[in-house]
Amino acid sequence: MAALLLVFPPLPRLRGLLQRCWGRLERGLFPGFSGNQSPPWGPALAVQAPAFFPEPVSDTQESAEAPSLLDSIFWMAAPKKRRTIEVNRCRRRHPNKLIKVKRNIDICPECGNLKQKHVLCGYCYAKVKAETRLIRQEMRKKEGGPFNAPTVETVVLYDGEKPTEKDQGKRIIERARKRPSWFVQN
Ligand code: ZN
Repeated sequence: MAALLLVFPPLPRLRGLLQRCWGRLERGLFPGFSGNQSPPWGPALAVQAPAFFPEPVSDTQESAEAPSLLDSIFWMAAPKKRRTIEVNRCRRRHPNKLIKVKRNIDICPECGNLKQKHVLCGYCYAKVKAETRLIRQEMRKKEGGPFNAPTVETVVLYDGEKPTEKDQGKRIIERARKRPSWFVQN
């Protein structure tokens, strides 16, 4: 409080000296900024927050102690004892963790490969996918781009097949191969 009382009555000479020093410092720091249009910044007293703010309610015993360095560390989970390899293997190879044996394996009626009962055959799916890709390539060649395709039905004709009366006005794609058994003509 004594120091504040000493500083507070601002002596005019001291203030002028401070302002001159500040102006020189400002001109040195910002040479492009001319302080003519606005008054130069004056020195200001920065005071800490007043002491009459209510203190936060806390335990008097805890607040009395200085905060320890270990309080700010987030403790990660770390094993305290080494687990033996037997224990680890029993955990890893527990029957609940192993892959279940599949008993719903069936034979594909089309190609004869093994497949799951409720799932499409992977081999047949790959076959259909490859043939569909080739048909799509033929369509792209014929239409000259994916955005020129007319919104009409498409008829795929294989070797030795002729378009019938039903196929009038439809887009006809010809494939130079024998019709696969799984691609039925309707
Ligand atoms: Zn199959």
